[in-house]
Amino acid sequence: MKNSDIETNRGILVNRFLETNTKDIFAIGDCAEQREAIGNRRPIEAVWYTGRMMGETLAQTICVNRIEYKPGHWFNSAKFFDIEYQTYGWVFGERGRPDYEKHFHWKHTDDTKCITIAYHKNSNHFLGINTFGIRMRHEIFDKWLTEKRDVNYVLEYLADANFDPEFYALHEKEIIAQFNQENGTSIESKKKSWKRIFTKT
Ligand SMILES: Cc1cc2nc3c(=O)[nH]c(=O)nc-3n(C[C@H](O)[C@H](O)[C@H](O)COP(=O)(O)OP(=O)(O)OC[C@H]3O[C@@H](n4cnc5c(N)ncnc54)[C@H](O)[C@@H]3O)c2cc1C
Repeated sequence: MKNSDIETNRGILVNRFLETNTKDIFAIGDCAEQREAIGNRRPIEAVWYTGRMMGETLAQTICVNRIEYKPGHWFNSAKFFDIEYQTYGWVFGERGRPDYEKHFHWKHTDDTKCITIAYHKNSNHFLGINTFGIRMRHEIFDKWLTEKRDVNYVLEYLADANFDPEFYALHEKEIIAQFNQENGTSIESKKKSWKRIFTKT
């Protein structure tokens, strides 16, 4: 790379079409760096989901259907030993958290499970969720982010998003009870059938 004309910074610089500055040479995955970050994303995203999405995008382009890389809502998941970790949307830490971002945090008494939900303090718009020890469904959170659901809706139907294996203990009721206590709301846990979740209501 060092002896080529391909422009680099920390990674190999690409545009939204994953094209380098050299014709017919592309970069995807950990080595690719967007010239301008997409939304809140980092210019280099070293995670496998984005690598796969870039691969799918580029496959279209090299099959003569040139398309832009549009990764959609941020998400990631991992497993640290036996603890699941997942994130959907944006949940900022203390550093760099926007003024409007409010957090609701719940932790199980056994210290192995917790969730943090980020939402807009004025509009109540759901912004993102981090979960430890509870597995959630990507397609549901992706849908709720697209639909710009509010935090009350997300809590009400949180049971629909649970993706833990069969016979695992469920915690939605405790989570909702704590949210109600902290916010003076009276949300009740509900569940929709799968058919209704993915049809317009
Ligand atoms: C310990 C660890 C844990 C991770 N956990 C997660 C996780 O939980 N979730 C997640 O989303 N992501 C995770 N990642 C990140 C994820 O693995 C990477 O984002 C993903 O593998 C990147 O894919 P890639 O194809 O861009 O690069 P790579 O998978 O690194 O593939 C690059 C390939 O190119 C080969 N190569 C290098 N130089 C040359 C050369 N000169 N000639 C020929 N071949 C060459 C390498 O041997 C390698 O096989 C983790 C990474 C690490 C290291």
